Order: sequence, then structure tokens, then C-alpha cells
Amino acid sequence: MGRYTGPVCKLCRREGMKLFLKGDRCYMAKCAIEVGRPAPGQHGMRRNKLSDYGVQLREKQRLRRMYGLQEGQFRLFFERALRKRGITGVRLLQTLELRLDNVAYRLGFAPSRRSARQFVLHGHIAVNGRKTSIPSFLVKPGDVIQVRDNKQSREYATRFMEAAEGRGRPTWMSVDRESFKGEVLHVPSREEIAPIVNEQLIVELYSK
Ligand code: SF4
Repeated sequence: MGRYTGPVCKLCRREGMKLFLKGDRCYMAKCAIEVGRPAPGQHGMRRNKLSDYGVQLREKQRLRRMYGLQEGQFRLFFERALRKRGITGVRLLQTLELRLDNVAYRLGFAPSRRSARQFVLHGHIAVNGRKTSIPSFLVKPGDVIQVRDNKQSREYATRFMEAAEGRGRPTWMSVDRESFKGEVLHVPSREEIAPIVNEQLIVELYSK
């Protein structure tokens, strides 16, 4: 199945929570979740009790949609987390956070993960001085991520960096907005990744 290109607020309404897919609008009162719009569809107002499987599935969909991944890609990330030492659910969240598109979003170079993905794909980002255009590239502690030194790239990032201040700075990266760069200080702990989902439910879902 291809990448979802429909209205993104619909995804938040389906999950019943803010997934922060639309940039500035997500922090405004007109956000569909803030105004209490129900889940999409004819029976969106209904509140059916979910089975255990349903609860696990919804949790997985929330996380997958938040990071804008397709099912196959998400599954690969899970399997990668499974092979690493430590708690699988936490490793999964850490691996997702260390994706280059997410890092560009967290540093404030783009208003949403989706835009950050395009920004990376179009070659506006350098890692340790080398142009890197793979959104799924995983950064590691010590890596320096920078908007490339050209007018177009920096003008784009400037448009969003000020607004990003309102989202708060990631504690696991240093940010130097003057030089359009950030450095990964350490792998984020579970507490440093906003507690947005119950990752254990996702592990249970994939362990069936
Ligand atoms: Fe989701 Fe943002 Fe739309 Fe709100 S504005 S429903 S958080 S995508």
C-alpha cells in the first residue's frame, strides 16, 4: 500500500488524540482534536468497547502514524529493536526518534515530520558535513546535523525555527539555531521521548 496522502487531521480523529501532523495548526485552538471533532465515518460518534487486540492495534497505529511510516517500514523498525539489547518497546521508540527526518523536525527545521521528510529527501540536510538525503538514516551520539549552507535551504528552515521554540527544545540534543545545527548528545531516554503511547502494547501485538 502506498503512502497516505489524504487529510491528516482525519488520522488524529481516528486515533482520538493529537498526532501533530500539521505543523503550527496543531498548536492552535482550531485543531480538530481541540474542538472535539469525532472519529471520521458514519459511526464516528459511537464509542465501541475495543477487544485486547483492538487496543494493541490502535496503539501501534498511533505510533506508526505519528512518525509517518508505512506498515512494512514500521515492522522493520520493530524487528531492528527486537535484535538490540534492552527493553524492546523503549528501543523501538529510541530508534524512531533517531531517524534523520524526526531529528530535523525536533531541531525545528520543519513544521512537521512529514515536511521534515521532504526537506531531508530534497537534500537540504548534512550529517557531519556530508549531504544526507535518506529520511530513515539513523543518527548517533556525536553526530552533527546541519541545514546545508545554501540560501534556499536556510530560508526554508528560518521560516519554521522561531515557531519551533514554542515546542520546546529536545534535551538529548544541543541546538545552535544561529548556525542552523544541532548535535546528538545521547540516545534519548524513555522520559525524554514524550510518553505518547504504551509501547508495551505494540510489543504484545507483534509477539502474537
Ligand atoms: Fe492532528 Fe494537528 Fe490536525 Fe490537530 S491540527 S487534528 S494535531 S494534524
